[in-house]
Amino acid sequence: MSRFYLTTAIDYVNSRPHLGTAYEKVCADVIARYKRLAGADTWFVMGNDEHSQNVYKSAVEQGLDPLAYCDRMDEMFQRTWRALDLSYDDFIRTTEPRHKAGVTELARRIHAAGDIYEGVYEGWYCVGCEAFKPEKELVDGRCPLHPQTEPQWIKEKNFFFRLSKYQKPLLELFTNNPEFFEPDVRRNEQLRLLESGVEDISVSRAGQSWGIPLPWDPKSVVYVWFDALINYASAVGLGGDEATFGKWWPADLHVVGKDITRFHTVIWPAMLMSAGLPLPRKVFAHGFLTVGGQRMSKSNPGTIVDPLDAAKRRGVDPLRLYLAKEIVFGGDGDFDWDRFDERYNADLANNLGNLVSRVTAMANQYRNGRVVPTGRGSDRLGLIGEEVARQYREAMDALAIHTGAAAAFRLVDATNEYIATKAPWALAKNPDAADELTQVLFDAAEAVRLAAVLLSPVMPSSSAEILRRVGASSTDLRLDRDGRWRPVGERVLVKADAIWPRAETDRSKRVEQSKTEQPSTGVPAPSAPAPAAPAAAGSDKITIDDFMKVELRVAKVLAAEKVPNSRKLVKLSIDVGTEQRTLVAGIAESYEPEALVGRTIVMVFNLKPAKLMGIESNGMVLAASPDGGKPMLVGFDQEVAPGTRVR
Ligand SMILES: [Zn+2]
Repeated sequence: MSRFYLTTAIDYVNSRPHLGTAYEKVCADVIARYKRLAGADTWFVMGNDEHSQNVYKSAVEQGLDPLAYCDRMDEMFQRTWRALDLSYDDFIRTTEPRHKAGVTELARRIHAAGDIYEGVYEGWYCVGCEAFKPEKELVDGRCPLHPQTEPQWIKEKNFFFRLSKYQKPLLELFTNNPEFFEPDVRRNEQLRLLESGVEDISVSRAGQSWGIPLPWDPKSVVYVWFDALINYASAVGLGGDEATFGKWWPADLHVVGKDITRFHTVIWPAMLMSAGLPLPRKVFAHGFLTVGGQRMSKSNPGTIVDPLDAAKRRGVDPLRLYLAKEIVFGGDGDFDWDRFDERYNADLANNLGNLVSRVTAMANQYRNGRVVPTGRGSDRLGLIGEEVARQYREAMDALAIHTGAAAAFRLVDATNEYIATKAPWALAKNPDAADELTQVLFDAAEAVRLAAVLLSPVMPSSSAEILRRVGASSTDLRLDRDGRWRPVGERVLVKADAIWPRAETDRSKRVEQSKTEQPSTGVPAPSAPAPAAPAAAGSDKITIDDFMKVELRVAKVLAAEKVPNSRKLVKLSIDVGTEQRTLVAGIAESYEPEALVGRTIVMVFNLKPAKLMGIESNGMVLAASPDGGKPMLVGFDQEVAPGTRVR
């Protein structure tokens, strides 16, 4: 049996886990679960990075012993990870004795190889990054990632690691094993840096107590990054359990964020080369997650999403699906509450969940829940199922987990189409079609089963429930046996409540509202200024809450025509991301209708509908209205997707 050892980055425990941290762990968990499904003997390790000065500082601020503080944070982190159904086999903390043993062993080997020398480090240090910062990387004297934190000027006796000695072997590694570091864009970035030269790095800190003492100079501690990287080896027994280490090392995959690739693809392999240990087979760098288009940042609390809040909204599996499917693994992605609800409704409530309900209901209505293949149908769905399973395996083996998840949903779509074409409700009225009806129901149940197996790494507990409902086992799934079209055997289908009830979203509520409300009369023309609201005494300013009531969105013009008998008005059909709308805009004097088609505009999305020249207008286009001039549309200097909020 092949074996697969994978890790995630370990986290500083001086703040709570947020959705960006969770994104990495969920993706790694999908890979771990896929490897188990594919039959690999899998070992999945996560952990906490506890020897940070920030951790020490947070503990002191709270009047806690650092270790007691780390215990408390560990409890919080692992509670979150368990709630997200992460299937890690081991969780390492860098304050554990086994980690100290691993760090001591690796440091000893590198020292013995002659790659450590003593020197004086003088320069800037950013505590936020826990890293030394060359002057040229500072902006206005601050670390660009931590502008609130003043960098420290440090002059101390340090031990240095001869990283420069490994420039050539690293270049060879990058050139000869391109699969060592993916995606390509990140490898090329690092390769250019490598080519431009590598300097030795400081690997110790003097005069600190929080950390692991250097074996040859116990008055110094190992620099926190040097310490942290070694967790991947100490977790599987380096320096303590040679048999386990021999079984699992080298790691098959390190999943890390794109901001820490230098540590993982330059420093870490060089450390291992120096220590005479095999290198990990692959480092994969994922992108960053923004929230509503904004970078998650402590200085902007609205952007920090607690993964447990997101899971509470629609469930753990819908969140896992969003993270795995809606974001290209390796690229940057965005989490948006509205979009989360929309994808939930589109993929789960209306599509997969609805399919499970229909198939189980029809099987119970027409065949008392029991179906067996009769051989009286077409093999079209089976062929699609085999093709989807092949594409899925190919994508998942290449770590394209978004493509793998999407493949499973192609089978769901095909099954819905198959049912619509075969119309079981019509077959049920024709006694001659009894066998065909049974086969159609069987095929649909088999397609649902296969889709659930393929989705099991992404949505483990929902997949198990779907498998139960279509009469298939969910224990000990194996891709080579269960992850393919299986046109045999009796299925007993169970009818039950909807797995994912349709979510009433803010956006769908608004749409419903605007559909039912009568257009008000006597509205001003769209480009006319709105009547001034009575200003509060002594203030003409509005609050951010007032502003946020106005929902501005990006839309794309699909069609445009002049409104008959009007000089100013043009009627637009627009794509607002979630639907198509008609609106009337007073811009006909500035723009020919043909010139508007395909154009990106900004509109007030939640404006009450109004009738203009007999046409119902749903929204208002934003345009500059210079005095005495013609209106000018608001635009962007880059392509923006319809539906994107503007604020
Ligand atoms: Zn920094």
